[in-house]
Amino acid sequence: MTVQRLDDAYIKTLERADIEGADVIRFLYADHGGIIRGKASSRGRLAERLRTGIGHTVGMMAMSMLDSLQPVAGMGPVGEVRIVPDPATFTMLPYAPGAAAMCADLVRLDGGPWEACARSFLKQAIAELAGDGYELAAAFEPEFTLGRRVPDPAGGPDRLVPIDDSLCYSSTGFHLAHDYTMALLRAFEAQGLRVEHYYPEYGHGQQEVSIRHASALRAADNHVFFRETVRGVAFRQNLWASLAPKPIPDQIGNGCHLHISLWSAGMTRNLFYDAAGKYGLSDVGYHFIGGLLAHLPALLALTAATVNSYRRLSPRSWSSAFACYGMDNREAAVRICSPLRGDAEGSANLEFKPSDSSANPYLALGAVIFAGLDGVRAKADPGEAVNVDPADLSDGERARLGVRPLPHSLGEALDALAADELLMDALGPLRRTAYLAVKRSDIDAFGQHDAAFECFHHFTKI
Ligand code: GLU
Ligand code: MG
Repeated sequence: MTVQRLDDAYIKTLERADIEGADVIRFLYADHGGIIRGKASSRGRLAERLRTGIGHTVGMMAMSMLDSLQPVAGMGPVGEVRIVPDPATFTMLPYAPGAAAMCADLVRLDGGPWEACARSFLKQAIAELAGDGYELAAAFEPEFTLGRRVPDPAGGPDRLVPIDDSLCYSSTGFHLAHDYTMALLRAFEAQGLRVEHYYPEYGHGQQEVSIRHASALRAADNHVFFRETVRGVAFRQNLWASLAPKPIPDQIGNGCHLHISLWSAGMTRNLFYDAAGKYGLSDVGYHFIGGLLAHLPALLALTAATVNSYRRLSPRSWSSAFACYGMDNREAAVRICSPLRGDAEGSANLEFKPSDSSANPYLALGAVIFAGLDGVRAKADPGEAVNVDPADLSDGERARLGVRPLPHSLGEALDALAADELLMDALGPLRRTAYLAVKRSDIDAFGQHDAAFECFHHFTKI
């Protein structure tokens, strides 16, 4: 039965590749450094490669975002995995004529999921949820900076110069980015990413496009295609787009908030919704928040996953800087979103704010699921909602409400992760060892340089 279904998916993929004229088909995955990488198959070899995958060294999950290979047991120069694409994700790439792409798993030679495969980590989280009768719907809400890559007149690293100095949500921003955004939005729709909203955001050259929510795995796959499209469309127009959290030090950062809702199996009922609950949120919703807050410092190591992420997380920039939740509070790490009139149940969701696109989307969403589910199982109490700017509270008030500052650096977040039994267990020995090694090497490397070097390496890669 399973074999038959796989065969059908393969045949459909081959037919699409033929009919739509895909000469190369990229097999994409996201690594521990937050980089999207991959290898491509020719059309002629696709039938075989769909089954076997493409060979890949185990070392690549020990590679940092500076391409510095870390010594990790099990990820040395000896050993192979296969990059095996998921045919359900096949899409032509409108910004790369002749190319298609699929999201891929990293698979052991015996066909089992590799212990360091990030996409398999999210599947593992989804399976945990399913075991308790839940499904998660998610939407990534990415912001990015549109600009040009220009040499630094002083001879330092290249800089990202935004395409405009338009104001937050200003119509000037619509005008100035119009040609790019039309190509972008059409490219999203052509790939089946359904655009919800688009607007020029707070920072110079900053744009935001939100894509309709989907089941957890699809949402994370969508975010991979989103990142690829934002940059691919820009490159073809001689522009440079970056989803890095803080590509320009004195501009507002690029977040990628996660919108999540928990549903009954089959997505028939939104379990976060309760008309009688405070702010329309159910007990399950409050317990989920309790789990997120309890694991928050550790979670950040996976959701705000680069050195650059911590330039973004500062008070009064709508990114969140404190561990608390609130109703429509843009300064709280978790925001209860006000439901839409006429669709209160369908739209009840939580927004997780200390998250950005430098994270591996599979690890970030998987970790959010494990943390939230832990709260649901333990019936965690999230405490009182904070419905003011937590930065305006005195230290005493924050202490009374249990509001702690978020980690100030990736190093702090990694220490919290290393001490978080639930998340370390969920990651498993190989993945967590490699992840911590890769991230700590980034901290060392960036610690030896200035902000210009850090921003350069983030805006050119993410
Ligand atoms: N740019 C803000 C961030 O870094 C988010 C702004 C908003 O959309 O609320 O998270
Ligand atoms: Mg925004």
